Amino acid sequence: APVVSVRDLRKEFRRADGSAVRAIDGVSLDVAPGEFVVLLGPSGCGKTTLLRSIAGLEQPDSGAIHIRGVPVYSSDDVIDLAPERRKISMIFQSYALWPHMTVFQNVVYPLKNAPRPRLSKTEMTERVSYVLDLLGIGQLAGQHPGQMSGGQQQRVALARALAPQQDLILFDEPLSNVDAKVREQLRLELLSMQAEIGFSAIYVTHDQTEAMELADRVAVLRDGRVEQIGSPHEIYSRPTSRYVADFIGTSNEVTGTVEEVLDSGAVRIQTAIGPVLGGDVPGTVAVGDQVVLLARPERFRLEPQAAEPNGPNSWTVEGDTTLFLGAHSQHIVRLEDLTLRVWSADQTSVQRGQSYRLSIDPAAVRVLPEKPKDQ
Ligand code: ADP
Ligand code: MG
Repeated sequence: APVVSVRDLRKEFRRADGSAVRAIDGVSLDVAPGEFVVLLGPSGCGKTTLLRSIAGLEQPDSGAIHIRGVPVYSSDDVIDLAPERRKISMIFQSYALWPHMTVFQNVVYPLKNAPRPRLSKTEMTERVSYVLDLLGIGQLAGQHPGQMSGGQQQRVALARALAPQQDLILFDEPLSNVDAKVREQLRLELLSMQAEIGFSAIYVTHDQTEAMELADRVAVLRDGRVEQIGSPHEIYSRPTSRYVADFIGTSNEVTGTVEEVLDSGAVRIQTAIGPVLGGDVPGTVAVGDQVVLLARPERFRLEPQAAEPNGPNSWTVEGDTTLFLGAHSQHIVRLEDLTLRVWSADQTSVQRGQSYRLSIDPAAVRVLPEKPKDQ
């Protein structure tokens, strides 16, 4: 049974001018035991409101939330359990540590204030030492948070969330206030702690790298709705909308009209750059449909112009510039009015104004219906 189950949840806020914001607009979501689910989306898409509703810090308008099979919120049954009765740990973007308390006192606090039966004093001390050591800050137990770096403070906040050893922990952008290097390290530590302790997690972020790295499943949110949910690999390689393809990774896009559906299932599409064959067609399309074609930058081949055309999706393009990005280079090339981004491990730069041959396997061209809301 899922640890968390959210059904058709809705929550509206009133703005000062009286207009309504649908912060959560019909979300359903399950989190399996031990699963790490990341809620990903731009600022304002409803991530925090959803998380706070699960924690009991925000009262939804309608829907239902079950935690460990127990209804904690249900508009039908008029249930709304207080946060402390939901047995969840939560950690926020601001560390929210008490400056007048030592690290030890900060971390032991939720244990001392837990509902009965409580741990003994010895057990509490052992528990705090255990999580502080796990996070590599055992030596800071007697210090005050004010004297520490952002990374150390966030470790203390993590320790405080882990100490009660709840089987469910909610994270609201906990790493956005720490430096990139520390953030990277804390992500890895978070994963190894999860492997060690085995909690389920719902983790909010607007950072796609963070989402890809941490998640068993990513739920991409858009305007208070789940646009797509799946493993990082699924979300990256099989996005179901332009919104998701743009939010996760880089995508080249061109719109067109379906001209022919081939026996193989591939489709020929008339576009501003001529006919394109798309072989990755998740839905049904018919002749005359408006579609958008998506291609990841690493799926193209860029060669000297002298190369023979290979296959149907082959064009002569004009070089613009190359950006060296370390592990790969990003080549910017132009084709008619399109600017395309092509990635390769090859570090030779394209020359501005020079002609090149660009090609792509039809299997790497994803064909999605062009929904009006995606435009
Ligand atoms: P996110 O965490 O993804 O940035 P939020 O859940 O904070 O998004 O906000 C979702 C939407 O609800 C936004 O439009 C935000 O302005 C609005 N909102 C959130 N909290 C309140 C509130 N207390 N009063 C009015 N509007 C709110
Ligand atoms: Mg937020």
